Amino acid sequence: MQIKNILESIGKTPLVKLNRLFQKPGVEVFAKCEFMNPGGSVKDRIGYQMVIDAQKSGRIKPGDILIEPTSGNTGIGIALAGAVLGYRVIITLPEKMSKEKQVVLAALGAEIIRTPTEAAYDAPESHISVANKLAKELPNAHVLDQYANPSNCAAHYNFTAQEIIDDLGMVPDYLVAGAGTGGTISGIAKKFKELKPSCKIIGCDPVGSILGGGTDVSTYQVEGIGYDFFPKALDCNLIDKWVKTTDEPSFKWARRAIREEGLLCGGSSGSALMGVAEVLKDIPQGSKIVVILPDGIRNYMTKMLDNDWLSKMNFKEAILPNNIFSK
Ligand code: PMP
Repeated sequence: MQIKNILESIGKTPLVKLNRLFQKPGVEVFAKCEFMNPGGSVKDRIGYQMVIDAQKSGRIKPGDILIEPTSGNTGIGIALAGAVLGYRVIITLPEKMSKEKQVVLAALGAEIIRTPTEAAYDAPESHISVANKLAKELPNAHVLDQYANPSNCAAHYNFTAQEIIDDLGMVPDYLVAGAGTGGTISGIAKKFKELKPSCKIIGCDPVGSILGGGTDVSTYQVEGIGYDFFPKALDCNLIDKWVKTTDEPSFKWARRAIREEGLLCGGSSGSALMGVAEVLKDIPQGSKIVVILPDGIRNYMTKMLDNDWLSKMNFKEAILPNNIFSK
């Protein structure tokens, strides 16, 4: 296959049947492997979509500055598009996010400003406020704003959802996905529910975030999901049930997906798999479930992938023995 540039390889990710992780007779679980995107995550889709839509509408032009607050993956998506299409990219990134994301962003030419993780979304030092302030100060600078930009949901409505339907040959009975901006789950859910209103949408949200219920805001280690405010991109009306997730089981599910299915996914994928385990407790025979695996191990080589880190953080359950298959 020959393509015009790397951005054309975004999407069309594999939908992989899970064979070992869940053994529920009569139920099939499929994983949408978004970590196979060229920048390493589901957010390549919206980075590209937001840039080309803004370019088409005349809002931005090559040479302009794109500033985005992100947990890293949208930044990588925008920086990837920026590198190919010729934009200067500035990323505001909370301290919590991995060094791995930072160095990838830097290699793509993005300038990075780290912001305090604990800052409330509307505090002046938050990644969102810093990005907005900078956009006012710099000439020809724009915040594409993944939290509210309609191109976010549209990318998933038009592409991610359609790819799943095409590959499965039907709309699944259940969709399980984490929510950060909510663009992934809302965009896919909208398409699925239009075509099959009985399809159940399950959102996964960390304890410490308010998206899936609760008012307590606290820090957790899984990156990319959960917030202390409701982004416009998240349409809660489309979500049938929320599963509250926690760090240790999320990392354990991710490490199991790697070890037992060969899926080199990241921590929020583990949270979504934790959600699948919940859904399976009470599910009719013959159901098909699709779970979204948003990013991959590259972002977490010195974190979730490293047993020393898991041990130091006291996530010992996530450290799997090597010999899981020997009798
Ligand atoms: N997982 C990871 C690793 C992410 O970076 C993101 C995006 N913040 C998500 C899940 C959630 O995706 P969305 O913003 O579409 O809800």
